[in-house]
Amino acid sequence: MPIKERTEMPVQDPKERIKNFSQVALGYTEEMALNEASRCLQCKNPTCMTGCPVAVKIPEFIKLLKEKKYQEAIDKIKETNNLPAICGRVCPQEHQCEAKCVLARRGQPVAIGRLERFVADWEHSHGKSEVRKAEPNGHRVAVVGSGPAGLTCAADLARLGYQVTIFESLHAPGGVLIYGIPEFRLPKDVVRREVEYVKSLGVKIETSVVIGRTLTIDDLFHDGYEAVFVGSGAGLPMFMHIPGENLNGVYSANEFLTRINLMKAYEFPEFDTPIKRGKRVAVVGAGNVAMDAVRCALRLGAEKAMILYRRGREEMPARAEEVLNAEEEGVEFHFLTNPVRILGDDKGWVTGVECIKMQLGEPDKSGRRRPIPIPGSEFVIEADTVIMALGTSPNPILAQTTEGLKAHPWGGLIADEKTGRTTRPRVWAGGDAVTGSATVILAMGAGKQAAKDIHEYISSGAQGW
Ligand SMILES: Cc1cc2nc3c(=O)[nH]c(=O)nc-3n(C[C@H](O)[C@H](O)[C@H](O)COP(=O)(O)OP(=O)(O)OC[C@H]3O[C@@H](n4cnc5c(N)ncnc54)[C@H](O)[C@@H]3O)c2cc1C
Repeated sequence: MPIKERTEMPVQDPKERIKNFSQVALGYTEEMALNEASRCLQCKNPTCMTGCPVAVKIPEFIKLLKEKKYQEAIDKIKETNNLPAICGRVCPQEHQCEAKCVLARRGQPVAIGRLERFVADWEHSHGKSEVRKAEPNGHRVAVVGSGPAGLTCAADLARLGYQVTIFESLHAPGGVLIYGIPEFRLPKDVVRREVEYVKSLGVKIETSVVIGRTLTIDDLFHDGYEAVFVGSGAGLPMFMHIPGENLNGVYSANEFLTRINLMKAYEFPEFDTPIKRGKRVAVVGAGNVAMDAVRCALRLGAEKAMILYRRGREEMPARAEEVLNAEEEGVEFHFLTNPVRILGDDKGWVTGVECIKMQLGEPDKSGRRRPIPIPGSEFVIEADTVIMALGTSPNPILAQTTEGLKAHPWGGLIADEKTGRTTRPRVWAGGDAVTGSATVILAMGAGKQAAKDIHEYISSGAQGW
């Protein structure tokens, strides 16, 4: 039998969307969702679920959706996933559940993420799911960081009756979901809505508290917390260490995106955080963060928004869909191009980037072909703003301030892959703080595993490991 075509998601026209920060992907209508749900074969052995780190009961929720039982469908997802509207928008499903869908073997997989988004949004506009708080079990757990790892760990423990407090260094909870991923991919109202849901389960969130500075992990134990989960992410930006990197107009992608997303710099002066609205913006790097930064620069009014990447198109780490979106919006890609110096005027403002042409040699440790500079091929690209999107690493502050908590030389905390147990008894860790920059769903999976292990540990009355 021929496989029905996958239902396309309507999107904003590229010419229009580069003038605003509203969502690019507009979501399924009810008719589209029902049509897409009808493609699910309801496999007896649902391989899609093996691709989901938080084990969403995918065929069950899709069956309920097909029967138009939308509230039941979202309740089914929430049995294991506390952040469905977020996951439905930003999870790389093509590498997770959808990659394991049996339809993917012969054509296009069921659009599981889009269906998840549909029911999550349906609940927001129609539903009234009752939140039942668990009976308190008398145990207290502290969570460091309110990104997807911390929120998931906290929510799962709260459901088991733990009194959980999340300590967050920024003034708003959500981690990268709130400060990194742009509004046009993940509206901040959606993040706030799902953070409120986690709070409704009984989780307390204390913002503007830097663990390792305002309080230490030892202070938390003295305050009576019996376990600590560290989900502090990987927010420390990397730089190239080339001349000119401290000129005015050079940003790390982190700062650039935080100003725009968390502090709404694009609404300056209504919001009080300014940002330089560059006319010629060069973003160095070609991962998802680079795509987000370059697309934000366009929306701020850049006439030329460029990606400078030392390897070729094939080696770009960004998701194909994000590259396509950027191309549709008019982003220019300069491949095999590596900055060697940032140029500035006598007032210290960026005027351009001196680059060198590269060629690809043998594959390196990452399996990608190594870029090698071509001597004498230097040239200048004019730019008034340069954004470094070269990756991030975990901040060493927690390992430095916590006795017995060990980290790898690159910054990631050492933790057991299955349980999240660190080298310090009663301290668990997961998400980007352990793996380095990865994905929302992997961070959530780590938070979930740690919550399970914390529960097993505390309920067994164990004292150390
Ligand atoms: C721009 C950008 C776009 C991305 N796009 C996607 C995407 O589309 N899909 C996807 O799956 N992944 C994406 N990612 C990756 C994904 O967001 C991360 O892998 C994920 O957020 C990691 O979750 P986490 O909870 O481990 O850490 P984070 O989300 O980084 O949260 C950690 C939190 O801990 C807080 N914190 C840190 N130190 C302390 C401390 N000492 N005390 C108290 N609080 C502290 C931080 O302020 C932060 O709020 C993107 C990342 C970026 C930067």
